[in-house]
Amino acid sequence: MNIDYTKEELEFQQEVRTWFKENLPEDVKRKHQIGAPFSKDETVAWQKTLSKAGYFVVGWPEEHGGPGWTATQRYIFDSERAAAGAPVGMSMGVIMLGPVLMAFGTQEQKDLYLPRIKDCDDWWCQGYSEPGAGSDLASLKTQAVLDGDEYVINGTKIWTTYGHHANLCFCLVRTDNDCKQQLGISFILIDMEAEGIDVRPIISIDGEHHLNQVFFDDVRVPKKNLVGAEGQGWTIAKYLLTHERTTIAGVADSKLNFSNLKELAKTQTANGAPLIEDEQLRLKIAEEEIKLLALEYTNFRTLADTAAGRAPGPESSLLKVKGTETQQSLSELRVEMAGNYAYVWKADETVAPAEFLHATEQYNFLRACTIYGGSTEVQKNVVAKMLLGLK
Ligand SMILES: Cc1cc2nc3c(=O)[nH]c(=O)nc-3n(C[C@H](O)[C@H](O)[C@H](O)COP(=O)(O)OP(=O)(O)OC[C@H]3O[C@@H](n4cnc5c(N)ncnc54)[C@H](O)[C@@H]3O)c2cc1C
Repeated sequence: MNIDYTKEELEFQQEVRTWFKENLPEDVKRKHQIGAPFSKDETVAWQKTLSKAGYFVVGWPEEHGGPGWTATQRYIFDSERAAAGAPVGMSMGVIMLGPVLMAFGTQEQKDLYLPRIKDCDDWWCQGYSEPGAGSDLASLKTQAVLDGDEYVINGTKIWTTYGHHANLCFCLVRTDNDCKQQLGISFILIDMEAEGIDVRPIISIDGEHHLNQVFFDDVRVPKKNLVGAEGQGWTIAKYLLTHERTTIAGVADSKLNFSNLKELAKTQTANGAPLIEDEQLRLKIAEEEIKLLALEYTNFRTLADTAAGRAPGPESSLLKVKGTETQQSLSELRVEMAGNYAYVWKADETVAPAEFLHATEQYNFLRACTIYGGSTEVQKNVVAKMLLGLK
């Protein structure tokens, strides 16, 4: 599917395409293509490469050090990035916290943190979920009590992605117990090296350490680290989640994944014949292609919203539901194509073709993508209320 780009947009597309061709290291591309995990150092190195080229904080306005691109330019950039086989350079600081600080932060917070996010000097993690407060986030219990110029924080956060890599955490805490749940929540920035913080690993079903439970025991945080006013945390949290959801859908990456799978079906064989000669598999590939096309139309609807200066509403929930379902079904397709190689676990290329080495790990981990960033059921509730007017 093509959009009618202007002459300037076509030039921009060429510029981005050339940059990735010349600057994406072959080993990064290969790892990304086969779904191998990246270490913290590898991730930061790639982020710094993007940052030096001005390609890291791509959604930020110029006044905060971003390129000030239009929604269409951002779409072109992401499509070219994915098509080149480059990882997204995932950063919660860029996608989630940056826009929040721009909208709600003090001048001091903006001056301190935004340049450090842009230069990849900090690694931020997200402290929202708690045991017993996931979908029902407003029931969170982690307590922040003001004592002089500092808040004293007690409680626990769970599923904290890369909390073990992070030096900073943006966190939702309860500052008032005597009002409507939502109104007692505040948004605060916490130094992960502060005394009283304990980060414990949770190993996920792919056998990797992405997740953690974080415990806060009398952790003292300066009052100036509060973002917005006390009790404004719920408004800020909702603002941030829209940004998170649109990103999680990963449409451009699914397109690349799909075209790689289609290619694999031609080059890999089973019982002496190319996989593509299997009629059942051909049908599944066709189904995926049709779903991807529909997904791209939904992506265009959110793009049209942002291009017109409207915040994406329920479309971002639709996109999250369909985008993550597609990621899961593509991972299923890869496992099916892998056949016996799907049994391979933490092995190397002496045991299976590289393209299938991480098939099962990825399939397992991606069960979570319809949960994180707000579960599918919860997104469907949003769509039912906002798009269909159901209560
Ligand atoms: C891999 C991974 C990474 C994550 N990273 C982070 C992170 O970095 N930071 C962070 O703060 N959190 C993170 N999370 C947490 C994530 O946001 C929560 O898991 C998610 O919001 C769901 O909450 P829960 O796990 O408590 O499940 P629950 O809320 O207990 O839900 C259980 C089931 O009930 C369903 N359900 C719940 N409420 C409703 C409803 N009203 N209507 C219909 N069905 C409903 C859900 O869809 C789900 O199927 C991560 C989770 C995962 C799996």
